[in-house]
Amino acid sequence: MSDVKYTYIIVGGGLAGASAVRGIRAVDPDGSILLIAHESTRPYNRPPLTKDLWFGKKEVEGIFVGKTPAFYDDNRVELRLGATVVEVDPRGKVLRDDQARAISYEKLLLATGGMPRALDIPGGDLEGIYYYRYLDDYLSLRPRAVEGATATVIGGGFIGSEIAAALHTVGVHVTMVYPDPSLVARVFPERLGRRLQEHFQERGITIHAGDAPTAIEMSGSTYVTRTKNGQVIGSDLVIVGIGIHPATDLAEQAGLTVENGIAVNERLQTSNPDIYAAGDSASFPYQALDMQTRVEHWDNALNMGKQAGRNMAGASESYTYMPYFFSDLFEFGYEAVGEVDARLDTFADWMTDFETGVIYYLRDGYVRGVMLCNVWEKLDAARALIQRGEKVSPEELRGAISKE
Ligand code: NAP
Repeated sequence: MSDVKYTYIIVGGGLAGASAVRGIRAVDPDGSILLIAHESTRPYNRPPLTKDLWFGKKEVEGIFVGKTPAFYDDNRVELRLGATVVEVDPRGKVLRDDQARAISYEKLLLATGGMPRALDIPGGDLEGIYYYRYLDDYLSLRPRAVEGATATVIGGGFIGSEIAAALHTVGVHVTMVYPDPSLVARVFPERLGRRLQEHFQERGITIHAGDAPTAIEMSGSTYVTRTKNGQVIGSDLVIVGIGIHPATDLAEQAGLTVENGIAVNERLQTSNPDIYAAGDSASFPYQALDMQTRVEHWDNALNMGKQAGRNMAGASESYTYMPYFFSDLFEFGYEAVGEVDARLDTFADWMTDFETGVIYYLRDGYVRGVMLCNVWEKLDAARALIQRGEKVSPEELRGAISKE
């Protein structure tokens, strides 16, 4: 038996969950909404945690979804922060939280996100190591990241590259360690990754590429990171970004189909039609690419969450949006859309080598993804090129998207 009942329950207080509120309210002004979030802060945007907050472009108060707490009152949302859902019973349409409260739903959204992968090495769980993902990480790290402090950054992907640039900008001496031969190797073609890596080094960031940590220990208040290649790196801070695990436990417990994430159909319904999923943990049919995939980026959480909300409220629309992602690594800024995977064939159409240009990612001669490097407001052109689905040669792509 349940204590209370809501029309809509959203599990997860990340951007996907918060965006679902807007989606629901665009279709149903009246149904009751409960949003349950594990974190004790209300939902916020994550990109500023490695970017704008460090560059003085944003203050913490400016990163929350809906700007002020009034967003939830205005949308008549009950917000339950610092709470964890431990069980979902899809037959009874009821869930239980960690206080053993039973709460019924008509439609449920699992927007459970992901958890940072941990280093499986001695000392990987030492107190004070940042598995950098949450606002609390930023709030704790920022006052310690003072000019002259030293930091070891483990991982050379999105978090590693962005937090290394951010820390360097505020005067921290940064050493990076990652297994790939070049920076952001899953995304950047190797020549670009190497050029950006050199650029980081020219600025004074020490990089141990092709290496991995084997142990971390404390010597007084200093973290000592030992690596496979025999490096011994002392630092005041250790920040780790080695990927995330999609949070699928609840979905598995509920008996939903889970395959590299919580599987959903084009309307974002899981294998139980009254339960939806969106954001980092959801594996969805990416229609323009004709593939089932997960996308762990801000713009997908925003748009997929909104679409899930609309559909929970009865809209029954396909999620056809093509999400983009973006990053800023010193003066190298980019936006990218589609399958931006360095394992594909790539054709780089540079206007200025490794600075300004467009990189096309192709499979069997078809454009699958586009990265716009210091080229702005061309995302729709990139989306159209991918959607056109025509076989092309690199020569035909030269100038296909230009800066003008
Ligand atoms: P990521 O981009 O997948 O990068 C993980 C990095 O860690 C890779 O360089 C990987 O190398 C390395 N790695 C793996 N195991 C390692 C080990 N034992 N020791 C050292 N390095 C290791 O993941 P992330 O940077 O942690 O980012 C987490 C999530 O946040 C992702 O979902 C990402 O999409 C999202 N995010 C996005 C943005 C953006 O869109 N701009 C910014 C920040 C975060 P290998 O490739 O060799 O495994």
